[in-house]
Amino acid sequence: MSDKFDVIVIGGGPGGYVAAIRCAQLGLNTACIEKRINKQDEPALGGTCLNVGCIPSKALLDSSWKYHETESALAEHGVKIKGADLDLDTMLQRKDTIVKNLTGGIAQLFKANKVTWLQGSGQLKAGKQVEFQPLDGGDAQTLQAESVILAAGSVPVDIPVAPVDQNLIVDSTGALEFPKVPKRLGVIGAGVIGLELGSVWNRLGSEVVVLEAVDTFLPMLDKQIAKETQKQMQKQGLDIRLGARVTGSETTKTKVKVTYSDGEGEHTESFDKLIVAVGRRPYTEGLLSADAGVSLDERNFIYVDSQCRTDVPGVYAIGDLVRGPALAHKAIEEGVMVAEVIMEEATQVNYDVIPGVIYTHPEVAWVGKSEEEVKESGEAYKTGVVPFAANGRAMAAGETGGMVKFVADEKTDRILGMHIVGPQASELIQQGAIAMEFGATAEDLQLMVFGHPSLSETVHEAALAVDYKAIHVAQRRRKK
Ligand code: FAD
Ligand code: AMP
Repeated sequence: MSDKFDVIVIGGGPGGYVAAIRCAQLGLNTACIEKRINKQDEPALGGTCLNVGCIPSKALLDSSWKYHETESALAEHGVKIKGADLDLDTMLQRKDTIVKNLTGGIAQLFKANKVTWLQGSGQLKAGKQVEFQPLDGGDAQTLQAESVILAAGSVPVDIPVAPVDQNLIVDSTGALEFPKVPKRLGVIGAGVIGLELGSVWNRLGSEVVVLEAVDTFLPMLDKQIAKETQKQMQKQGLDIRLGARVTGSETTKTKVKVTYSDGEGEHTESFDKLIVAVGRRPYTEGLLSADAGVSLDERNFIYVDSQCRTDVPGVYAIGDLVRGPALAHKAIEEGVMVAEVIMEEATQVNYDVIPGVIYTHPEVAWVGKSEEEVKESGEAYKTGVVPFAANGRAMAAGETGGMVKFVADEKTDRILGMHIVGPQASELIQQGAIAMEFGATAEDLQLMVFGHPSLSETVHEAALAVDYKAIHVAQRRRKK
């Protein structure tokens, strides 16, 4: 193997593998170093997202929803099923097969694009040198590149009050693997990951208690959407306790006792399993030698400019290692951008239009600014909100909970944000993202023809509602 490359990417997650493929497409001789060993003890590409994140969690969310629907939501459609059986082994194996197919697919894409996959760990040194330590225990090699892309991702945050043992106290990875459905499940952290994984096990029969230190539910969401989401999740049986800070835990052979404090004092709960989902942090251990020259910011993210350049010329960092939302699609687009920056092409990720999604049921999705953010900025604005309860397709599907909301600029009519809680929110949100990317106004959406009956009609109605023109809801004019 040559020790010289045009580009070396460290990390083969959604940021790194996409960057490597795009670099190769642009004619650069590219290597991607990835050290992950999967559950089957094999080297694997795909990073957190494909192996233990987005994909396996969505596989379990879909499977658990089907089980829940069969058990309790089909009867209203006149479909009566007696005694649906849960075969958890099959459900978990199906998830593993999906992961294996997808990660194997990336290895194929590397081959097709002639990206060299170096199985082992990489460390950036001074002068764009990279020390590569192979997984097979062979000698370390010093490699040289014109450009280096750091894409080492993130790992779960640990808290000393609930140390993860991957048995009774697990992180998000352990929560994808429970061998049987825990009777009582505790979740620390009502963030996206805690709510998604709590929902999976709740649907499969666990009694779930979510303990969240902050007393606002999903503070990053538009307030009106957060309120409806909290209502919907509590209706499903998630016991969400806000303002509840976990202060300690104790394990016996089969139980975990958790203490937490809230406004009323100290409390204790006993669980069969506990998921710690208190956030993720950039994974920089072993990534940078002392003389690498790359700086970190105050939160330990690698410091980069808007095009992901670090302080060292020719060294870039992307994805969960750097500022911005820790989302796979953000990492992917940064990977593409950096490859194009290396080729001196004009390119820029639009950080103002990155959709966020929570894959609960109903789903929650948003893009752009919340009403509160716009209010705070002092811009004059208008909103349009329409519930799915007024939508024929939602009724047909028995999915009438939730709403679509637009926030638009009062003067220019430009769409500033779109917020959804409701059926297929993860798909519908892209309509707002496309509209915003093209600088659309609410009127642009008002003038478009939407297929009937479709959930998208609620997007149309919400855009109409911005100017009191919604047809299927009675609107009262706000007083100016
Ligand atoms: P990662 O995916 O973390 O990949 C980094 C890779 O680098 C890892 O495989 C690691 O082994 C490797 N690496 C690290 N250091 C080295 C080194 N020194 N040498 C060699 N290799 C190294 N995001 C979404 O957008 N949608 C979702 O639905 C979603 N669901 C999620 C669910 C869960 C349970 C979790 C945990 C995360 C989820 N995320 C989701 C977040 C998403 O997984 C991350 O934002 C995304 O994986 C970040 O991509 P990345 O390429 O920056 O890093
Ligand atoms: P996220 O960063 O979106 O994954 O969310 C993690 C959540 O965990 C945040 O809302 C934190 O407030 C919450 N959290 C962190 N530490 C604790 C703790 N000790 N007890 C309860 N909640 C916590």
